[in-house]
Amino acid sequence: MLRTLLLLTVCLVSVPVAPLRAASSPPALVPKPVRVEMKHGSFVLSEKTVLVAGAGARGEARQLADALKTPTGFRLRVASGRPRAGCIVLTLDRSLASRLGTEGYQLSVTPERVSIRAAEAAGLFYGGVTFRHLLPPEICSTSRVMPISGAATWRAPCVEIEDQPRFPWRGLLLDPARHFFPPEFIKKLLDVMALHKLNALQLHLTDDQGWRLEIRKYPRLTQIGSLRPESPKRRDPAHGDGTPYGPFFYSPKQIRELVAYAAARHVTLVPEIEIPGHFRAALAAYPEFSCTGGPFAVRTRWGIEPDILCPGNDAAIAFAKDILGEVCELFPSRFIHIGGDEAPRDRWKQCPKCQARLKAEGLKNEAQLQTWLNHRLEEYLASKGRRLIGWDEILEGGLTPGATVMSWRGVEGGIAAAAAGHDVVMSPTTHCYFDYAQAQGAGEPECIGGFIPLRTVYAFEPVPPTLPEPKRKHILGAQGNVWTEFIWLPQEVEYFAFPRAAALAEVAWTPAESKNYDDFLTRLEAHCRRLDQRGVNYRRLDAEARQR
Ligand SMILES: [Zn+2]
Repeated sequence: MLRTLLLLTVCLVSVPVAPLRAASSPPALVPKPVRVEMKHGSFVLSEKTVLVAGAGARGEARQLADALKTPTGFRLRVASGRPRAGCIVLTLDRSLASRLGTEGYQLSVTPERVSIRAAEAAGLFYGGVTFRHLLPPEICSTSRVMPISGAATWRAPCVEIEDQPRFPWRGLLLDPARHFFPPEFIKKLLDVMALHKLNALQLHLTDDQGWRLEIRKYPRLTQIGSLRPESPKRRDPAHGDGTPYGPFFYSPKQIRELVAYAAARHVTLVPEIEIPGHFRAALAAYPEFSCTGGPFAVRTRWGIEPDILCPGNDAAIAFAKDILGEVCELFPSRFIHIGGDEAPRDRWKQCPKCQARLKAEGLKNEAQLQTWLNHRLEEYLASKGRRLIGWDEILEGGLTPGATVMSWRGVEGGIAAAAAGHDVVMSPTTHCYFDYAQAQGAGEPECIGGFIPLRTVYAFEPVPPTLPEPKRKHILGAQGNVWTEFIWLPQEVEYFAFPRAAALAEVAWTPAESKNYDDFLTRLEAHCRRLDQRGVNYRRLDAEARQR
């Protein structure tokens, strides 16, 4: 009896009676869940709330406890066993897979209890993200929120949610090759991506202007390739700024840390090593793997470089494979991106080794030589259990059998690849280039050009209507790309990426028929308060952003 009384007391303390109120308007969730049903009342999170983790759910329970700790100042106890009043229950139930897929979840909030159920850990994580978004925006704060205002009462409205993503690939690309971004910033970006249920971060690690990944077997790649003599001047890119840039690169230890940090947030780091073009920084270090033999310097202007890898040279192919081998050791990603874009084939036309290869392999032209090279890389990656993905230029000489295409020059390449039975990620310059301007006219920062306002990103439909129904399953998802020729600093990445990445998150997560731009803008306004709490330098919602 005493025990019962004690329990009752605990319950009364941990679950303050919420005033009865009518079911409120739907909370500002971004991306919008598949199904939301508002209920009466609310759940109050307090230091007495216990996280009850079912079998296999302990890791996600700890993760949620960590996420809640910084803003609330209390770390919830993680327990196993029977759910009790005032607790948050995380349940892994494999039988939900047929209903919710690998990333879906059910979230139930009642005054007594929060329940998150999913078939896989990713679903529990996303249920936790949605639960956090039901709480005041201060829950996203990167520092302790002192209980000084009503907003600091950690109260979530009662709700029943069932949710799962439309696409498995919900990506962003960051280009640390043109301008480098430290691991701390990538961690911040991963945190903010996770808040949007984005799950792939492609790192464009190499380009003409810089090699940013340490490779043990070829130390000169970073000793020489990670430093350029100067950069194009800001607002005057035709001239150099006279300032050495670098050496900047990621060490294997830093990459392993980032991979683990991303995995804890259910984000895959997808490495991109550009082969055979955009390769000048590598050739500056190892000119013997070019067609002419060099010498070369790391490129100091933006744009495309004519000197690329020589596929006529067996040693050059071994060089590329060795690099990819170390990349596979560092990155567990199933997909390894080999670039493949904007590779001028003029040098190959003049190169005796390349021409000998063409003849020996019975290839008709240099485009087929690139396909031949891709085939070697694809076989090598397959031997390590990985899949090759590349920009849509890899279609030009015919796709290799297992290649996945990232369609950037419009969606046509993606349509062709999907029609031929290849998987596709849509990332066209018409909707997904987040280095383009967000508004026209003065007042916007210098950028590469183009115009992709928020509404254009939101309007993107990754599945082209002309693609026949049976082929639509090949569209894996969508990705927004932050190229950084004109983006130097982390806060500038944030300005270009957000809130467009929030629109992209909804494109990739929410059923097409549930999308509505006016409704999105209303939710986004509230969502921006979460971004404020995380210190994200997003572009403010002005008249341009609100334009329908
Ligand atoms: Zn050659």
